[in-house]
Amino acid sequence: MAPPSNPAHPNTELDETAIIARDLIRFDTSNYGGGRSNGELEAAEYVEAHLTALGLAPQLFEPAPRRASVVARVPGRNSAKPALVVHGHLDVVPADPRNWSVDPFAGEIRDGMLWGRGAVDMKNMDAMILAALGDILGSGRQPERDLVVAFFADEESGGGVGAGWLVDNHPELFAGATEAISEVGGYSITVGGRRAYLLQTGEKSLLWVRLVARGTAAHGSRLVGDNAITKLAEAVATLGRTEWPLRLTGTTRELLGKIAEVLGVDPEQVSPDELALATGRRRDSSRRPCAPPRTRPSSRPATSTTSSPITPRRSSTSAPSPAKRRPCSPRCRRSSATRSRSRSCIATSGSRRRRPAPSSTR
Ligand SMILES: [Zn+2]
Repeated sequence: MAPPSNPAHPNTELDETAIIARDLIRFDTSNYGGGRSNGELEAAEYVEAHLTALGLAPQLFEPAPRRASVVARVPGRNSAKPALVVHGHLDVVPADPRNWSVDPFAGEIRDGMLWGRGAVDMKNMDAMILAALGDILGSGRQPERDLVVAFFADEESGGGVGAGWLVDNHPELFAGATEAISEVGGYSITVGGRRAYLLQTGEKSLLWVRLVARGTAAHGSRLVGDNAITKLAEAVATLGRTEWPLRLTGTTRELLGKIAEVLGVDPEQVSPDELALATGRRRDSSRRPCAPPRTRPSSRPATSTTSSPITPRRSSTSAPSPAKRRPCSPRCRRSSATRSRSRSCIATSGSRRRRPAPSSTR
């Protein structure tokens, strides 16, 4: 993406992909979850207009007010081949401007980089899809197989009024498609001095854990040792600090085997942590706020269960007195890839183990 040499004229030297990504960032499509969203309508209309200008016949769907998705089919040269779905999402997770050094919805170019919410998830790829499609169709070419290009609403909160709704209500849009390509899937990494490209083959499954604490109800001015909220806070803190055991699914075992192959080592002789370290490190300052940041293997999350008590759904912090009963729902991600869940998980010897947090304080 070519940065502008003069920020006063940000359009003049931007390529098309950057312009589209910037335009999409400027639509604030924040999805707050739980049905609260700014909506994707204007972004969807922008994409619809772009696809129409390429000579396609996109369809815009709005199953709920302002919650809009766009789908278009690009005819391929060989209709006997199965279609390929290439899709992105138009919504973004919220951004608090107080935590940003730039306006998250201004699409600002600074230091040769495009800044804004969605610049990496995933208005960037939405723009790449549109620009690549424009490149192919604009030069008179046609893809080998049918392409179904889709830009979904509501990906960040379950897809109920996005991909899920379209699959349930308009399966004909995806008729004949056998594969789909979208975001993530793996970043390129350097292993042993060689460039390696990761392919995602599974997802962690999600497990909501409902914590319920009981205590003695009393007026807030009293000293009450039996406080449900204190118990709940301790349970959440324990869950957040728990170091879960390393587990290798078929997917992660294969990943580590390939890393070992690139490194020229025997995967039976090298620990998974060492192999994971070969993929690079990332800073991790989240474990103890006062402790110096630690570095961890960047692929470690692929081999471990993770728990993220960051999204309490029904907890309350404003109770005037120690509550008798307070629920909270942190979420955990199990290391088992969904497609590998039927396989047995093998605990790795030598991995650090601590007692897991209780799933309930009931
Ligand atoms: Zn995304």
